[in-house]
Amino acid sequence: VLAVRNVRKAFGEHVVLDDLSLEVTAHQVVVLIGASGSGKSTLLRCIDLLEDVDDGVIELEGQDITDPRLDADAVRARIGMVFQAYNLFPHLRVLDNVTLAPRLVHKVPRAQAEEEALAVLARIGLADKARAFPDELSGGQQQRVAIARALVGKPAVMLLDEVTSALDPELVGEVLELLTELKQTGLTMVVATHEMAFAREVADEVVFLHAGRVHERGTPEQVLGAPRRGRTQEFLRRVS
Ligand code: ATP
Ligand code: MG
Repeated sequence: VLAVRNVRKAFGEHVVLDDLSLEVTAHQVVVLIGASGSGKSTLLRCIDLLEDVDDGVIELEGQDITDPRLDADAVRARIGMVFQAYNLFPHLRVLDNVTLAPRLVHKVPRAQAEEEALAVLARIGLADKARAFPDELSGGQQQRVAIARALVGKPAVMLLDEVTSALDPELVGEVLELLTELKQTGLTMVVATHEMAFAREVADEVVFLHAGRVHERGTPEQVLGAPRRGRTQEFLRRVS
């Protein structure tokens, strides 16, 4: 579904992604781990075309999306991106938050957009909150709405960047549970996280980034249970 090939990204002199390659197949959940500053967010932002790559290509469903002739909004519509802070519009009800992009960017008629949004909200157990404003929801519920908003366009791949790190510890569980359920529905996901227990539970593949490269990759059992390389071992000692 997604292939990152030999991508390089620097900010000034600082090379953040260095000849990085990554493949994600359909229905796969790839979890990115690595120290702060290792490039996890930058990689996800490059895939979502929020940053230009300096070199290399990114293919989504076989198409090179780094081609500057493509319409970035149209590409982004095929990608569901969720950030750390939930970024809901505070003055819009849940239903309007979820239908905003389909209606304004993709010109989906309101009735159809709302029908789809309500179906997604029902799926994540928040149908009864459709008329609520974000500040009437818990942080965990808000983050689930942000995930719903990313799901409505039926994206080919979901990118999730530290979606639980802004949440109070007792709210983390409900969001991770939702992601586990989405995995069971076959959704393809790339997830950057510091939650090693979650990585162990849902990842098909764990990718450890270090110095802008894929330093070690494999099943959770391999990378988290029996890391082969010193940097990976050191990182896991620090976070556990
Ligand atoms: P964290 O675990 O803290 O979220 P990360 O792995 O997501 O870290 P990135 O946010 O991708 O790391 O940052 C990688 C490096 O790129 C960092 O050194 C950061 O300072 C740098 N960087 C990121 N965005 C920019 C930018 N817009 N301009 C300059 N430097 C940047
Ligand atoms: Mg980050």
